[in-house]
Amino acid sequence: MGYKPERTCILCRGKFEKSQLLRIVKNGECFSKDTTHKKDGRGAYLCCKCKNSEDLIKKRVLDRAFRMRVPDEIYDLLKGE
Ligand SMILES: [Zn+2]
Repeated sequence: MGYKPERTCILCRGKFEKSQLLRIVKNGECFSKDTTHKKDGRGAYLCCKCKNSEDLIKKRVLDRAFRMRVPDEIYDLLKGE
């Protein structure tokens, strides 16, 4: 049994293994979904339940995670998951 690092979902605050989370990464001004969990930049994690949640945009959780105004397009990007 190996050590499995856990990350916190930015919406429900639950802890999950990385493989169960979607990572959103900010590199410079550019946001993207990081399916490999290897991209450089500041990351935020969402669990599979939360990534389609309406609360994402209502509570603007990405804004909080990245300490900036995250464009609505980025939230829309997540809905398609
Ligand atoms: Zn969650």
